[in-house]
Amino acid sequence: VNEQLKLLIGLQEIDSRIIEKKRLLKTFPGRLSSLEGSLKSAASLYEVHKQKYDSMKLKQRQKEKDLEEAQDRINKLKTRTSEIKDNKAYQAHLKEIEAKEKEIYNIENEIISIMEGMEAAGRGIKAEETKVNEEKKKVEEGKKTIEAEAEIIKSEMEEFNSRRNELRKSIEGDLYILYMNILDAAKGLAVTEARGEVCLGCNIQIPPQLFLELRKNEEIIHCPQCRRILYYKDDSNEEKE
Ligand SMILES: [Zn+2]
Repeated sequence: VNEQLKLLIGLQEIDSRIIEKKRLLKTFPGRLSSLEGSLKSAASLYEVHKQKYDSMKLKQRQKEKDLEEAQDRINKLKTRTSEIKDNKAYQAHLKEIEAKEKEIYNIENEIISIMEGMEAAGRGIKAEETKVNEEKKKVEEGKKTIEAEAEIIKSEMEEFNSRRNELRKSIEGDLYILYMNILDAAKGLAVTEARGEVCLGCNIQIPPQLFLELRKNEEIIHCPQCRRILYYKDDSNEEKE
């Protein structure tokens, strides 16, 4: 087996691992923002309940003021009752008291229903508060997990890079440049196996003559379609190893 080809196969193995780790690292910000997204939606639901509660609270205060005014008015009316001598005026007076009493009754009912609404909104606030806290915890834990995973991956990548640098020293300069050019152009796969007369890089059928050459693993042979460097893996040998 061509020693340089062997080195290139080793380099490709390392580069594939490095590319995979880089791809994995790129998913981390997305993972984090999806965690934060759940927190944000819980927080905005909390805000909705909170605003509902606050506006009902305002309404309740207004109604209580109305109630107080109506009660004041009715008290004033009642103190005047004994002073009214004229029958017609007296009837009108009683009607006014009756109307005020009805108004008070209505305001009281409104206050009750507002308070019921506030109770429901209060429960909503509590539930969302719990959810927000849970989501906060999830974000914190997720952050820790992601950071720990990233640390591991970074140290693995350092290890791969140092192995790569070591390996690179033994590869001829021109061949390394060729390898890097193909790696760039061919989606991170410059060296690939040809199995059963098929290039595993692009799945093209390799001409039988070329495949025969390839099986020797003596030359640097490119796939006629994707230009990747091809090698042949003898599975019977591998089992023995
Ligand atoms: Zn190919």
